[in-house]
Amino acid sequence: MADQIFSLIKQEEKRQKELIGLIPSENTVSDDVSAVLSSVLSNKYSEGYSGRRYYEGNQIIDQIEDLAVERVKELFGVPYANVQPYSGSPANLAIYFALMQPGETIMGLKLSMGGHLTHGHPQVTASGRFFKSVQYGVTANARVDFVELSKLAKKHKPKVIVAGNTAYPFELDFKKFRQVADEVGAWLVADISHVTGLVVAGEHISPVPYADVVMSTTHKTFRGPRGAMILVTSRGLKKDAELGKKIDSAIIPGLQGGPHNATTAGIAIAAKEAGTAKFKKYAQQIRRNAQALADELIKQGITLVGGGTETHLMVIDLTPFGVGLGTQVAFAMDVAGIYANRNTVPTEQGSPFYPSGVRIGTPLVTSRGMKEKEMRRIGQWIARVIEHVSTEQLPRNKTERQKFLRDFRKKALHDRELLAIRREVKTLTAKFPLFKW
Ligand SMILES: *Cc1c(COP(=O)(O)O)cnc(C)c1O
Repeated sequence: MADQIFSLIKQEEKRQKELIGLIPSENTVSDDVSAVLSSVLSNKYSEGYSGRRYYEGNQIIDQIEDLAVERVKELFGVPYANVQPYSGSPANLAIYFALMQPGETIMGLKLSMGGHLTHGHPQVTASGRFFKSVQYGVTANARVDFVELSKLAKKHKPKVIVAGNTAYPFELDFKKFRQVADEVGAWLVADISHVTGLVVAGEHISPVPYADVVMSTTHKTFRGPRGAMILVTSRGLKKDAELGKKIDSAIIPGLQGGPHNATTAGIAIAAKEAGTAKFKKYAQQIRRNAQALADELIKQGITLVGGGTETHLMVIDLTPFGVGLGTQVAFAMDVAGIYANRNTVPTEQGSPFYPSGVRIGTPLVTSRGMKEKEMRRIGQWIARVIEHVSTEQLPRNKTERQKFLRDFRKKALHDRELLAIRREVKTLTAKFPLFKW
């Protein structure tokens, strides 16, 4: 009898196929990447690096990891790459351990303004507990505030400045980050997890000429397996010839044990796919789709953080409808067949758990073959959902708020307008297969 897990996987597959996924960090992988992930490669232990492993029997694995490293180096034009990080979060920690002593200062973008937890979010994260964290923010037009960044950097003399984000709709000016880093002699780490696919396709400025170290997850716009890579640029190596070795040691023995060899093989395949003309067209379409979706939302009277997008994502600002509506709107969108995540807005008056925004992006729907026409329909559906559920305000009082949301969720599951949209969504998604490369 087949394990219950397989029936659950079937259900999840159905969910992914029928609904519209707008979470900007999600994507689908090619059949080739998918195939290597369930291969015999995951049977093998390979602690160490190619040619210097702690285990026997790695003759083939060495060749696979060499290929992955070589392809990544060529794709980004960097002299060094490590493809062993288990995921983006440990990769960032490894970089910090390679570049800093505990207690030294890290600077990253505030979480509430689009930064990532691992960029020094205070108290609750490893990056905020092992290091002294100083966070910079954005200006009124939702762009990185370089005046503030420079002032804070001069005052706190950080060892590391992180240029990266996870809910920031605009291109990052790595050149300006470099200037600030040079003013105070800090390492510049670019975390391009979200936009890697755009970077390799020339649809986003590359950090390689400016940063010392670049980190990226491999499963977002890059369309590879869940994992991460760390690149050291020529600039970084010039500053410290041992930097590559330091990163290697920070991964193992510093932070990890055996690499996930199936993932390594998947990264090798994804790196090859990302170098093709087909991928370039894909990345262009991601941005065109984001533009079309943003335009339609604005046309429907919806406010976007910073007024739009230059990348694959945007953040809907629900503040004009009320404070803290992100939770109920994201839930209602899911009922209507369009799933995304609630998110803070830079001027947040709610809280991280009850924020006033919803983050949406186009990498996954673009992978399914959707174009501008479909984006306009999605924009209209989202606007319908927002208008339908934003009339009810989230109570300020905690107990009332919990009760309100419980009742709201119960009602939403049977809401006729939301379910009508869901039927329309299903008709659309039936025409766009989930796996398409
Ligand atoms: C997704 C992301 C990470 C973390 O990656 P995980 O694989 O989820 O650990 C780190 N930094 C940025 C900017 C990200 O977007």
